[in-house]
Amino acid sequence: MPELRQNFMTKEWVVIATERAKRPDQMAVKRPAKPSVSFSPNCPFCPGHEAQTPPEIMRLRNGNGSDWKARVVPNKFAALSPECKPERKIRRSLRVLAGFGVHDVIVETTDHSLAMALMPDAHVADILRIYKMRHDALSLDPRIAQVTIFKNYGMDAGTSLEHPHSQLIATPVISHQVRERFQEALRHYDDFGCCIFCQTIEEELQEQVRVVLESEHFVAIQLFASPSPFFTHIYPRRHMASFGDISANEIADLGRVLRTLLAKIYYGLENPDFNFTIRTAPSECVGVRYFHWYLSIIPRLTRTAGFELGSGMFINTVIPEEAADFLRNVKVDTAVGVS
Ligand SMILES: [Zn+2]
Ligand SMILES: [Zn+2]
Repeated sequence: MPELRQNFMTKEWVVIATERAKRPDQMAVKRPAKPSVSFSPNCPFCPGHEAQTPPEIMRLRNGNGSDWKARVVPNKFAALSPECKPERKIRRSLRVLAGFGVHDVIVETTDHSLAMALMPDAHVADILRIYKMRHDALSLDPRIAQVTIFKNYGMDAGTSLEHPHSQLIATPVISHQVRERFQEALRHYDDFGCCIFCQTIEEELQEQVRVVLESEHFVAIQLFASPSPFFTHIYPRRHMASFGDISANEIADLGRVLRTLLAKIYYGLENPDFNFTIRTAPSECVGVRYFHWYLSIIPRLTRTAGFELGSGMFINTVIPEEAADFLRNVKVDTAVGVS
């Protein structure tokens, strides 16, 4: 029978449409080819084209110091600008803030077509280390309220540039959606005296039906009320509200876990487009006991349609427990690609 399931954090309902459910392997269909050349003469992120980007913010050097492994540059077409002051203007019921913000692009590798799923674990850990450095630096700026780190992979995930990259946008306001999640998490903490995420992780580890993989420091699961097929969360086992609190050992471990999951999705589902994002405490909530940061991976296997837009509820045609079982069984190599 179809089932309505409630998301533990947003309290939103999801329809798990068992009557028209697809087997997980039916989501693996042939897709348009992604780039397969390691260098593109027209790409601003390829080596030798460094002058085509705005002045570099930082770079990760190769061992010999002569070359780079990854770079951070301001987005040339930034959504927000660090040049203005975040002053609020309120006119009758209208509220406006100058478009202050920081918009970074993290160029993940020199190779034009090396998908993160195929990078060595240590290189993915390097990218995560860059995220943390930029997250920490920007979180100290009193003008910045929220730092959002994300990756768009493929056209359906909203990217226009092929070269492997991720982005960071720091904003002077906290979104309503993030506020709501925090309020729900705080309510749970007040009612039950524990972090709702710590509780969920413990329950998922006991049940084991939606766990995809476990490592020393992280747990990856399919959400019980998963809004779309193969929606995956990676949680740190240790309670931490902010991504900025991650330790060096945990970053190395997360590099392994994230790369392995992306490889399972890459091989198991025929290299689909996806987004991932790190959901972390805004600067003003660092250290709270009621929120727990996590990384969310959303493969773009279906499209949002009228019901979702009109109701805010999603229909998922892949049963999360079956998606977890499918991903657990996709075997991937431990280390591939070159750094
Ligand atoms: Zn390139
Ligand atoms: Zn927790």
